[in-house]
Amino acid sequence: MLAGGVAAAGVVDLTRSSIASRARAAAAPQVFDRAAWGARPPVQPAQVLANGPDHIVVHHTASANTGDLSQAAAFGLSRAIQNFHMDSNGWDDTGQQLTISRGGFVMEGRNRSLQAIGARQHVMGAHVSGENDHTIGIENEGTYMTTGPTGQLWNSLVATCAWLCTVYGLDPQAAIVGHRDYNATACPGDVLYARLPELRNAVAAVLAGQARPVGSSRRPRSSGLAGPRHTYDHGPALAANEGHR
Ligand SMILES: [Zn+2]
Repeated sequence: MLAGGVAAAGVVDLTRSSIASRARAAAAPQVFDRAAWGARPPVQPAQVLANGPDHIVVHHTASANTGDLSQAAAFGLSRAIQNFHMDSNGWDDTGQQLTISRGGFVMEGRNRSLQAIGARQHVMGAHVSGENDHTIGIENEGTYMTTGPTGQLWNSLVATCAWLCTVYGLDPQAAIVGHRDYNATACPGDVLYARLPELRNAVAAVLAGQARPVGSSRRPRSSGLAGPRHTYDHGPALAANEGHR
């Protein structure tokens, strides 16, 4: 029995603090840093903002849905995207903070990204036009207009989002969005976009320590928005007034 507000042995403590302490902190997935995949040095160091991001933006890379799920292919993808962003777009470095291959390998993108995440700060990226100062971008290898990602990619995306939600104290139901939620683009593709509710629930389940999320698949439907025009083009990524490229 309870007396004077003191919980007797065996009584479940439902105070706010005990509930908070039971929320799981999702462990960081293995993230390969820039040295691992052989990044070029940036034109100049990335800008680090004191405040962490409030949204996680899911992208596709608008590249082939390769069957090569190897680590070597993943590292080659990161190098190819960086080359495109620096040499074709004229940016200082690769634009997104994180990249996930179809084999499920998670890689650091823009310089200082892992350092900033570790410090609960934010690296200014170039992945969603006009919103780069408060959003962290994950580029997921492939083109998901008519088909979905591999299981390996999906599992890594869930783990990565759970880690970021833990680090930054974000609610997955509010924080996880698609590129098309901000800019006029079909990114991350009709199929992957339709799975964002499932992704949010899967991340919430990880954070709650549950084995399985509540199912919530939606039928993909065409957005009518522009799809990729060429490889690595997934829509507006940088506004003219966003300073660092
Ligand atoms: Zn995108």
